[in-house]
Amino acid sequence: MRKSVAAIVGRPNVGKSTIFNRLVGERISIVEDTPGVTRDRVYAEADWLSTVFNVIDTGGIEMSDEPLLVQMRQQAEIAIAESDVIIFLLNGREGMTAADEEVAKILYKSNKPVVVAVNKIDNPEMREKIYEYYALGFGEPYPISGAHGLGLGDLLDAVVGYFPEIQGQASDEDTVYFSLIGRPNVGKSSLVNALLHEERVIVSEQGGTTRDAVDTHLHKDGQDFVIIDTAGMRKRGKVYEATEKYSVLRALKAIERSDVVLVLIDAETGIREQDKKIAGYAHEAGRSIIITVNKWDTVETDENTMKEFEQKVRAHFQYLDYAPIVFLSAKTKKRLHTLIPAIKTASENHAKRVQTNTLNDVIMDALAMNPTPTVKGKRLKVLYTTQVAVKPPSFVVFVNEPELMHFSYRRFLENRIRDAFGFVGTPIKIFARKRQ
Ligand code: GDP
Ligand code: GDP
Repeated sequence: MRKSVAAIVGRPNVGKSTIFNRLVGERISIVEDTPGVTRDRVYAEADWLSTVFNVIDTGGIEMSDEPLLVQMRQQAEIAIAESDVIIFLLNGREGMTAADEEVAKILYKSNKPVVVAVNKIDNPEMREKIYEYYALGFGEPYPISGAHGLGLGDLLDAVVGYFPEIQGQASDEDTVYFSLIGRPNVGKSSLVNALLHEERVIVSEQGGTTRDAVDTHLHKDGQDFVIIDTAGMRKRGKVYEATEKYSVLRALKAIERSDVVLVLIDAETGIREQDKKIAGYAHEAGRSIIITVNKWDTVETDENTMKEFEQKVRAHFQYLDYAPIVFLSAKTKKRLHTLIPAIKTASENHAKRVQTNTLNDVIMDALAMNPTPTVKGKRLKVLYTTQVAVKPPSFVVFVNEPELMHFSYRRFLENRIRDAFGFVGTPIKIFARKRQ
């Protein structure tokens, strides 16, 4: 389930973000199209031949106003902590600098595989510039040009060659992986602790790789769960771990391994801009989501309070209309017992497969109820629908002209599918394809 990670490290202006964008390509982000949610990419998926992996642009993780050398050291440390292979990027046009040597020293001590890439080698005549980089002691330097897309294949061959053998180690299909995300102080650590001490929860220590050591295994109501802890990691106390981008990076990594993501909201302070951004990451990743309103003990409740708060949540997170809302208190454990069943349901729905016959009956009924739209005299014809994937459930609707399937009609079909099959907690995807 976990993918290997490569991190790009190097001085400002060597071309880190150029290379990052080359590797990641033009991947469409739903979040960037969602009003109120902006995304600065520091972590994204890439692939080379048959290997899918993730890339971190450490240059995107800004480190306040520290001097260059301090920033470089911090970025190198993040790369060491968060990745399997480090791409050490240098500027072939400028030659080696003191900052490069400083970074090399830190990387050298880490025992992580390091691949040296010398960027801005835009033409073959410049290749001789790479020789001085043998002195770094990381083996063969790879000449590349981010601007022209040269040399990336050889570089990626080297990078992928260093990835550990984890790809095939599939996680247990019956185990539900979940994580907790939310801004600082919403109560992530408190909620993890509360869950671990809930009645009839059996917690087991399980050794794994160093990276997975923060995973906590638990068993409840006949179901195995793993909590992927992002909160605990933060408490190691290094300066950079408090920076927003770094917590985003950690959250993205946790989300990726999750079946279900708990998006925590603080009932005491209410919904903030940052909450929407964080929720957007989980939504974009296609994971099941539970909006978890913590610190419910701080709210004076009457019969309407919950409903009112729910309306507020719905108004702020319109794209999360599929996510159930759970109100609880990690502190008093009030309503805590409602969380695990909600996680279980959301994960079952995330992996749910529906019967093709029934699905097509549902779509036929929908078409009868709300005839397809006509655009410029042409009517959308829906021929056949099939579920092509789970996690999240994804459907392909074969039609005469995919362009005729507008957002609103897609939305209508989605709602009909949801009404018929009950996909509470999970996003579902609907693609329109032209029938050949
Ligand atoms: P970062 O600060 O390390 O992320 O560097 P950027 O990716 O922002 O690149 C810094 C500058 O170098 C930009 O003006 C890029 O257009 C330029 N650049 C990046 N790659 C190349 C390259 O392969 N050749 C040349 N000539 N310029 C490049
Ligand atoms: P994190 O930064 O998201 O991990 O948040 P913590 O778990 O460290 O909690 C931040 C603060 O909120 C601490 O002072 C907790 O005691 C408090 N807190 C957490 N959950 C609750 C809750 O349900 N009710 C109240 N009143 N306080 C809580």
